[in-house]
Amino acid sequence: MRKRFTLQEYKEGVLSGDRTKLSQAITLAESSLESDLELASDLVQEILPYTGKSIRIGITGVPGVGKSTFIEAFGKMLVEQGKVVAVLAIDPSSQKSKGSILGDKTRMEKLAGDKRAFIRPSPTGATLGGVSSKTREAMLLCEAAGFDVILIETVGVGQSETAVKNMVDFFLLLMLSGAGDELQGIKKGIMEMADGVVIHKADGDNEENANRAKSVYRNALHLFPLGQNNWSTPVMTASSLTKEGLSDSWKMIEKFKDQMQRSGFWESNRASQRLGWLDENLQFLLGKFFLEHRQVQKMLSLNRPKVESGELSPLALARDLIEVFFQTKENHK
Ligand code: GDP
Repeated sequence: MRKRFTLQEYKEGVLSGDRTKLSQAITLAESSLESDLELASDLVQEILPYTGKSIRIGITGVPGVGKSTFIEAFGKMLVEQGKVVAVLAIDPSSQKSKGSILGDKTRMEKLAGDKRAFIRPSPTGATLGGVSSKTREAMLLCEAAGFDVILIETVGVGQSETAVKNMVDFFLLLMLSGAGDELQGIKKGIMEMADGVVIHKADGDNEENANRAKSVYRNALHLFPLGQNNWSTPVMTASSLTKEGLSDSWKMIEKFKDQMQRSGFWESNRASQRLGWLDENLQFLLGKFFLEHRQVQKMLSLNRPKVESGELSPLALARDLIEVFFQTKENHK
């Protein structure tokens, strides 16, 4: 049985930077038990005044681009500069594949063994909304525990990118240089989301290709209109093996921070993210309470076959279910 603590114990543990207590607090926030959810949301409220001081960086790229290796090398460089670094992940597919991106900690052995770093595997959850809300809470808990940099890794497929983009200050896209057809297969939407692009594995025989890809991407990005923050997305090359380009990547992020703080975008972006978090929680909690409602469940399992066979309209059933949900007083099961 997992040991539970009082709100005060969690709060003091987290604020004192106690790693064990921080882990336990994140586990609490990840729980789907109603009583845990309540305690976790009280805890997040309590630690809120101590959050917000870190740089939140999202890192994405297709599987195999070297995200784990990059995060390990980049994180190591940052801790050597005296920073404390937390690594979190969003991988909504992890439940199915059982291979959570950070589940295998050996992939970040060096960083995991460093006292100045904290690595937390991806939470599991049925929906992306649930998973991303939990990651956001984990991020706030890490900030309250005093971390300077939060790195959030995402799998680079599907919607998890948008979820991460919506909780970070800087969104970094890792790419590989292709064989001359760099622009093929790039999802334009992801390029538009990026605040910085790094052509990764720019080492050995690949260096020349990487430099070529850099010009291609630079040219392509020039065609995109500037976003609200007036930031033109830089493209650089890096290698996590030779460590070349890692400190320039950090400089790019610091420059972004400096520019955004001066323009006011840094804070206005965080403010709109907080509102987005509210919407996300509303949707997630409504869905959760709705699907856990006993009568809704009963009616749903009874009528699903009728929808499946085409006998009953999905819209009609959905409306009936909503009606049952709101008419029954006993909304918590
Ligand atoms: P992820 O799936 O994006 O997390 O990718 P990994 O970090 O697991 O890396 C995938 C493969 O690329 C591994 O075999 C790494 O050793 C290799 N790799 C990662 N970074 C570099 C790099 O900077 N240069 C080279 N040459 N290989 C790298």
